[in-house]
Amino acid sequence: MVELQAIGKWYGHHQVLKNCSCQVREGEIVVVCGPSGSGKSTLIKTINGLEPVQEGVIRIKGRSIQDGGPDFAKLRASVGMVFQHFELFPHLTVLQNLTIAQKVVLGRDEKAAVEKALLLLEKVGMAGHRQKYPSQLSGGQQQRIAIARSLCMDPFLMLFDEPTSALDPEMVSEVLEVMRDLAQEGMTMMVVTHEMGFARNIADRILFMEDGAIVDNTDAHSFFAGAPSERAQLFLSRIL
Ligand code: ADP
Ligand code: MG
Repeated sequence: MVELQAIGKWYGHHQVLKNCSCQVREGEIVVVCGPSGSGKSTLIKTINGLEPVQEGVIRIKGRSIQDGGPDFAKLRASVGMVFQHFELFPHLTVLQNLTIAQKVVLGRDEKAAVEKALLLLEKVGMAGHRQKYPSQLSGGQQQRIAIARSLCMDPFLMLFDEPTSALDPEMVSEVLEVMRDLAQEGMTMMVVTHEMGFARNIADRILFMEDGAIVDNTDAHSFFAGAPSERAQLFLSRIL
């Protein structure tokens, strides 16, 4: 479903992604971990075209996303992205947050958009909050709304960039719960997270990044059974 081939990216003279190659198969859950500044966010942003690359090829469902063209916007709309800081529209209600892109990007009418939104609010346990504004919700609730908003676009791939790291500890599990449900339903996911308990539960594969490179790409079972590189082990020993 996703294929990165020898990706290289620079910010000015600073190379932030170095020869990164990996694949995500349909239905697979890939967790990306590694120290701060190692390029995790940049890597997943390249996948939905938020960050252009200077080297290598990125294919989604077999098609290069660098070619542009009319299908590109559609392809990109099918890749959901959830960030650390929810990035909901503060001046819109929860329901409006969930319907606006459906209407503007997918051209759905109000009725269809609202129907979809209510379905997904139900799914993340937030149906009772549809008329509230983001500022009236806790961080965990806002993040669940952000996930529901992404899902309204019928994505075939979800990218998560540290979705729980801005949350108070007691709110982490409600968000992980939603993600775990998604994973169990077969959603293809790429998740940057330091929640190693979560990774152990749901990940199929772990990518470990360091200094712009993917230094480990291991099936989750071997990773947690102690197979990762020394550098990954050192990292794990610091955060666990
Ligand atoms: P991570 O998510 O693993 O913490 P990032 O992908 O955010 O790492 O960053 C990788 C490197 O790229 C870091 O050295 C960071 O300082 C640099 N970087 C990230 N975004 C930018 C930017 N917009 N301009 C310049 N440098 C950036
Ligand atoms: Mg990051």
